[in-house]
Amino acid sequence: MASELEPEVQAIDRSLLECSAEETAGKWLQATDLTREVYQHLAYYVPKIYCRGPNPFPQKEDMLAQHVLLGPMEWYLCGEDPAFGLPKLEQANKPSHLCGRVFKVGEPTYSCRDCAVDPTCVLCMECFLGSVHRDHRYRMTTSGGGGFCDCGDTEAWKEGPYCQKHELNTSEIEDEEDPLVHLSEDMIARTYNIFAIMFRYAVEILTWDKESELPTELEMVDKSDTYYCMLFNDEVHTYEQVIYTLQKAVNCTQKEAIGFATTVDRDGRRSVRYGDFQYCEQAKSVIVRNTSRQTKPLKVQVMHSSIVAHQNFGLKLLSWLGNIIGYSDGLRRILCQVGLQEGPDGENYSLVDRLMLSDSKLWKGARSVYHQLFMSSLLMDLKYKKLFAIRFAKNYERLQSDYVTDDHDREFSIADLSVQIFTVPSLARMLITEENLMTIIIKTFMDHLRHRDAQGRFQFERYTALQTFKFRRVQSLILDLKYVLISKPTEWSDELRQKFLEGFDAFLELLKCMQGMDPLTRQVGQHIEMEPEWEAAFTLQMKLTHVISMMQDWCALDEKVLIEAYKKCLAVLMQCHSGFTDGEQPITLSICGHSVETIRYCVSQEKVSIHLPVSRLLAGLHVLLSKSEVAYKFPELLPLSELSPPMLIEYPLRCLVLCAQVHAGMWRRNGFSLVNQIYYYHNVKCRREMFDKDIVMLQTGVSMMDPNHFLMIMLSRFELYQIFSTPDYGKRFSSEITQKDVVQQNNTLIEEMLYLIIMLVGERFSLGVGQVNATDEIKREIIHQLSIRPMAHSELVKSLPEDENKETGMESVIETVAHFKKPGLTGRGMYELKPECAKEFNLYFYHFSRAEQSKAEEAQRKWKRQNREDTALPPPVLPPFCPLFASLVNILQSDVMLCIMGTILQWAVEHNGYAWSESMLQRVLHLIGMALQEEKQHLENVTEEHVVTFTFTQKISKPGEAPNNSPSILAMLETLQNAPYLEVHKDMIRWILKTFNTIKKLRDSSSTSSVAETEGPIMEESLRDRDKAERKRKAEIARLRREKIMAQMSEMQRHFIDENRELFQQTLELDASTSAVFDNSPMVSDVTLVALGPAQTRVYEQRQFVTCILCQEEQEVKVESKAMVLAAFVQRSTVLSKNRDKFIQDPEKHDPLFMHPDLSCGTHTGSCGHIMHAYCWQRYFDSVQAKEQRRQQRLRLHTSYDVENGEFLCPLCECLSNTVIPLLLPPRNIFNSRLNFSDQPSLTQWIRTISQQIKALQALRKEESTTNTTTSKNLENMDKLQLPEGFRHDFIPKNPYSKSIKEMLTTFGTAIYKVGLKLHPNEEDPRVPIMCWGSCAYTIQSIERILSDEDKPLFGPLPCRLDDCLRSLTRFASAHWTVASLSVVQGHFSKLFASLVPNENQGDIPSILDIDMFHLLVGLVLAFPALQCQDFSGISLGTGDLHILRLVTMAHIVQILLTSCTEENGMDQENPTGEEELAILDLYKTLRQYTGSALKERPSGWHLWRSVRAGIMPFLKCCALFFHYLNGVPSPSEVQVSGASHFEHLCNYLSLPTNLICLFQENSEIMNSLIESWCHNNEVKRYLEGKREAISYPRESNRLIELPEDYSSLINQASNFSCPKSGGDKSRAPTLCLVCGSLLCSQSYCCQTELEGEDVGACTAHTHACGSGVGIFLRVRECQVLFLAGKTKGCFYAPPYLDDYGETDQGLRRGNPLHLCGERFKKIQKLWQQHSITEEIGHAQEANQTLAGIDWQHL
Ligand SMILES: [Zn+2]
Ligand SMILES: [Zn+2]
Ligand SMILES: [Zn+2]
Ligand SMILES: [Zn+2]
Ligand SMILES: [Zn+2]
Ligand SMILES: [Zn+2]
Ligand SMILES: [Zn+2]
Repeated sequence: MASELEPEVQAIDRSLLECSAEETAGKWLQATDLTREVYQHLAYYVPKIYCRGPNPFPQKEDMLAQHVLLGPMEWYLCGEDPAFGLPKLEQANKPSHLCGRVFKVGEPTYSCRDCAVDPTCVLCMECFLGSVHRDHRYRMTTSGGGGFCDCGDTEAWKEGPYCQKHELNTSEIEDEEDPLVHLSEDMIARTYNIFAIMFRYAVEILTWDKESELPTELEMVDKSDTYYCMLFNDEVHTYEQVIYTLQKAVNCTQKEAIGFATTVDRDGRRSVRYGDFQYCEQAKSVIVRNTSRQTKPLKVQVMHSSIVAHQNFGLKLLSWLGNIIGYSDGLRRILCQVGLQEGPDGENYSLVDRLMLSDSKLWKGARSVYHQLFMSSLLMDLKYKKLFAIRFAKNYERLQSDYVTDDHDREFSIADLSVQIFTVPSLARMLITEENLMTIIIKTFMDHLRHRDAQGRFQFERYTALQTFKFRRVQSLILDLKYVLISKPTEWSDELRQKFLEGFDAFLELLKCMQGMDPLTRQVGQHIEMEPEWEAAFTLQMKLTHVISMMQDWCALDEKVLIEAYKKCLAVLMQCHSGFTDGEQPITLSICGHSVETIRYCVSQEKVSIHLPVSRLLAGLHVLLSKSEVAYKFPELLPLSELSPPMLIEYPLRCLVLCAQVHAGMWRRNGFSLVNQIYYYHNVKCRREMFDKDIVMLQTGVSMMDPNHFLMIMLSRFELYQIFSTPDYGKRFSSEITQKDVVQQNNTLIEEMLYLIIMLVGERFSLGVGQVNATDEIKREIIHQLSIRPMAHSELVKSLPEDENKETGMESVIETVAHFKKPGLTGRGMYELKPECAKEFNLYFYHFSRAEQSKAEEAQRKWKRQNREDTALPPPVLPPFCPLFASLVNILQSDVMLCIMGTILQWAVEHNGYAWSESMLQRVLHLIGMALQEEKQHLENVTEEHVVTFTFTQKISKPGEAPNNSPSILAMLETLQNAPYLEVHKDMIRWILKTFNTIKKLRDSSSTSSVAETEGPIMEESLRDRDKAERKRKAEIARLRREKIMAQMSEMQRHFIDENRELFQQTLELDASTSAVFDNSPMVSDVTLVALGPAQTRVYEQRQFVTCILCQEEQEVKVESKAMVLAAFVQRSTVLSKNRDKFIQDPEKHDPLFMHPDLSCGTHTGSCGHIMHAYCWQRYFDSVQAKEQRRQQRLRLHTSYDVENGEFLCPLCECLSNTVIPLLLPPRNIFNSRLNFSDQPSLTQWIRTISQQIKALQALRKEESTTNTTTSKNLENMDKLQLPEGFRHDFIPKNPYSKSIKEMLTTFGTAIYKVGLKLHPNEEDPRVPIMCWGSCAYTIQSIERILSDEDKPLFGPLPCRLDDCLRSLTRFASAHWTVASLSVVQGHFSKLFASLVPNENQGDIPSILDIDMFHLLVGLVLAFPALQCQDFSGISLGTGDLHILRLVTMAHIVQILLTSCTEENGMDQENPTGEEELAILDLYKTLRQYTGSALKERPSGWHLWRSVRAGIMPFLKCCALFFHYLNGVPSPSEVQVSGASHFEHLCNYLSLPTNLICLFQENSEIMNSLIESWCHNNEVKRYLEGKREAISYPRESNRLIELPEDYSSLINQASNFSCPKSGGDKSRAPTLCLVCGSLLCSQSYCCQTELEGEDVGACTAHTHACGSGVGIFLRVRECQVLFLAGKTKGCFYAPPYLDDYGETDQGLRRGNPLHLCGERFKKIQKLWQQHSITEEIGHAQEANQTLAGIDWQHL
């Protein structure tokens, strides 16, 4: 295809390249009608360059456009070669002190919580790093794209507006200087000309709406007839729909369709077909038909190719303009001038206006190009920014209406620029006064919500889908209003006042439409049929909450404004209330000789609404009157006389009664929508302008009323009037009415009412209500949150209402009320309440939810008990009210109140039936306590002149009057003090009585001075108290002890599994409790222990008894008994890999016999160490499988384990497992009955013997395969072979194991094979034994690495499960040959052996550079018995082991010498002295000789010996572990502690000389020839010639990549990362592989690839290659660690980054600066190194079922 197109493109190139930019520009300079000239040029060339075929060639197009189209313009503009002209311009320019960098998607942005004027003020990373805010409390977010850096904008920052870089440019700011002075007249004229033409051209062509016709000036003579079928983006159709449709419509592959869809989504449009009209039209109709079924169809246009060409160039031109003005502020100014110049058609038609007004018609790509141009031109020029702001405001209504009907997200709409304009304080102020912006915004908003009910209120109930959609979009206008109000005026002009109040009027109109909306009626009988819509109204309320608060803030700043606003608000409220008493019969209420008139109204029977924004706004303003003291300064200006307190309180009271009734269960039939509304009414998101203000409104009303009257009205609204107005009603009530739930209902209502009274009197912490200072409110809020429990910073933040300084406000007080506790390795930092703040605790704090209240009560009582205090929770001492509210306290001592208290106490005293409740009593006690605190305060602060009018104590001492004749409240309290059924409240009653006495004393002392007489009783009292307290304390201690024991027991039972899991997770956190006791540790200590060979230390294996976790039976582990197994998990691993590019390509053909030293893909086996009978496990596994199959059929649910893959959870610890390891005795002891041979061959002899045996076997096999075998013939042939002495090739050893053990050997072997090679299980495959040996070797190597990395001793206390796992694995691997084919294992042995001892029959053996020696050793040792069992010549297994070890060790030394002498330094050339050094020099010489001197010459002996020692250590350690577990010889005690390298001890244990080079000298006879054969290998030569690489030793441990300390540098790195597949697109979910450091474009269509026939995301694909199925990633935008295993499993994990409060920020929602926490990162690394990632995922998925449902493979 490409080659066909080539000639065509070439031809065009030539004709176009002849066009000279200089000449064209010259022609233009001469032209009389420049516009015509330029247009002709464009008309001719643009279609020749752009859109020449079905696919764009952006680079070619750009190159040609620059040459033919843009070049001439630059020449024209500069009047000379732009290569010189443009730099000149730049030099002459005075750089701006504004940064203005436009943010890319995902780029980090910074704001300063201390200095930013509002949260929308942000800095780019570069500016931030050079600013003062670096050391402030900053906030970090990732940009959604759009928006720009505010560095240099003095209006955006209270302090430090410039970074270092931009500060430089401010030295000589003359703000009003005209940037044009730096340009010549000529230049200005030319620029003006060319800008005007080009800008007009671009606007014209982009807004052109005809499909096949060009503007006349651009029409061509020879117009070709090609078209594009252009597909446009919408937000309705999904990716899948578009891809599916395209495949059908234009007959493309899925891949192409994905490409189209991706571009459409990014650029907003993409041509999907090119050709003649008919051809394109056909595709269009298919697309339309296919997408119009449910929704409106996708937008498709058939466009003439030349139009598309001009539009593409139009876009190019706009970007070019943006670049050009970057050279000079002067050019920028000219462009602004051109753009805003009014056109001939009148004021709406400047080019800028035209673009803005057609915004919603443009496609995404065009929009973003011109938006960017606006940002870099109009918004960067101080003068034109203002003019542009005016244009924007004038068009505001149109733009917003366009936006509301448009379907693109707001970030792609010009309307979104409001944030850039309205948040500039000076512009906002100007727009309010000059353009009446506030009113415009509110009116526009109202215009879009036309649907109203009969009373003119909003009605969301029957919204259509379209209306709902519009409603969602129109909410952004509220945000605009918020922007306008963010910065408050510092001074007011009359104009501003007038326009603000005008806006306030409009706002009141808006609130009026909300007052009383969504009215509710209690449902009786039937349940409601359909939940009514309630969210819309609450959404509106929530969005407006902040605006309402800001309106009040503005009013507070100016007395005149406040007074006017108050009047307006009151007037509107009266309008809302008109008809309030219409048709209502007034009724009269009377109690205790007080009477009041009110209306008859029952919340439970009539309509009631939660939405009362007008009342609440008035309440807010009323508080401001008090706070600003306007109420006292200008009472004559206020309409106070018009206030009707009963009217003010009526609606809020109804609302509160509604809540109470809902609580009492009276509204159950109204469904969940009501419950939700009540929830939000109190919720932190709404309460400030809902619940809180209702309380204030009641306080306002009540402060102007007789409290008795108020209380009676309240009783009536709570529908409780009857109960309290009739003496003895309660008694009768409870005896007459037997309906328990009605009584219960009334009890709850009484409780709620008492709670309300407590709040009305007690809530005085907001400025203006009580005499408090600004921080008291937030302090109190925090104290009460922390009274519930210690909390993390983010939890506290969440519990506080949203407001501009919520966090800074909190931080200013948090230190005074709380201690900070740092986080550990998990969990987060916590704030704990300071003990001295406990006295400020109010049990009836009004922001507590029911649950919080009871938790706080419990916590506080517990705390008091711990401190040996009594458990009373008396009300705290309160600040006094402001004068306007002062009379509120009188509620407490009003007659009706006393009557209510008395009645309830009476009920409690009489204690009959259920007409009272404890919490009712508790509230009464609290109220009495409040009254006492109040009176005490009054007395303490009394001055001579004042008479104390608060006389609660006197009133409660008096008995009730006739006809009641009840005892006094005080008397009743004394009675209750001894009531046995009120144990819990005794402390509180005692506290009341004590306080009563104190007050009495105070009163007495103020009248008389004799205090003495009261002393006696008090002493007595205290004595009694002490006695009682002591008894109580003892009882308490006893109780606590009991509780503790009980708790411990149940804890033990309940959390058995969890606890164990904890232990398992600690894996290497080696505390003594988890360490294993070695089976035969008490050995004679001065005997040197030897692990192998003829001199092996004899061990007597103790009999081992184990218990099956399933049937609890105990059994001895024996050769012939039934198999016992350990649950195990086998996985592929690349943890040790030194080459992540390598993975098993074709498992069918893969030969795992030789492990490459890069350890690129190993098989790891882990186990939780839990033992079962094989048959118990089999039964368990079968039942799990059956259960899962049933479940999957039913529910199609995912589980954390994949049964089909043989996975299950350990029945005890729920650890993920996929097979079992059989438990065995040391196998060598079973076979090695011939251990003590006196005369064993030397290494040389042994090698010869073995070589002979191998040769014989090979000949034998050859015979077998070539001849058609008959027994006789075979025998014949065998005679011809010279069999080595004592070798009986036909001897078949007897398998000693029981049938069930043999089965398990096969089962586990096959499992390793299946997982390690990802093949279907095949127990016959010759590779099965190899995989078993490999897994044994690999697992030992990985554990050796972990121990070394952590500096742990090799044989220190290992956790049981590791110890058990290694032992079983090693024993299993060495027993496995008994179930494999003897000849296969012999074949493996001979091939492995041939890698060291050459054998002409074995081809295809890797060089010693390409063999991992430990794997080789394990393979040789474990395969050897298969050969040795037929050998009756007298060579023992032990001898073989020893010789194999020595041979491999020597090969390893040679390997090390060949590869690791690179770091040589010529310094230490002193004469070698040590024996080792001399020996090694000698060996080195030999090597040089055999390699033809390719090795470097004569390094120092010391140096060589050192590198050999270092290089071989890991190998020796692995060998020690291996032989320890193989032969069961205890480890030497020296190696059980960490410290020195233990080289000598290891050598002794392994029966090696400490001078390893001796091995060569002792066996020089054979070794020289072997070394020669090794060195002569071709690969070795190539390596020495530098033609290839090789692994050097010691191999360094793999670690996860290094992470930066500051998280923002990661964000920055990721923001520069673009998707590797879709050409420069920003990746949406950049994800970092923590193993290799690759950045991936995750969770996105563009980077999906196919893996094993399925589409998978970039992470899953990468995991497959990099981690062999296990992946650890950091999702950078989300700040979240992702673990993946295979295609179906994954979980999220806490990131290793913490903020200063010790919390992680998953999702980056809070934006606090994040820093790397080394310990946490280490923990993740450890999980990885220990191969515990899969297990971690399993646990996470078990704990959180939703995780299993996520499509992990698409990440
Ligand atoms: Zn910047
Ligand atoms: Zn800057
Ligand atoms: Zn700052
Ligand atoms: Zn069992
Ligand atoms: Zn287990
Ligand atoms: Zn991508
Ligand atoms: Zn990777």
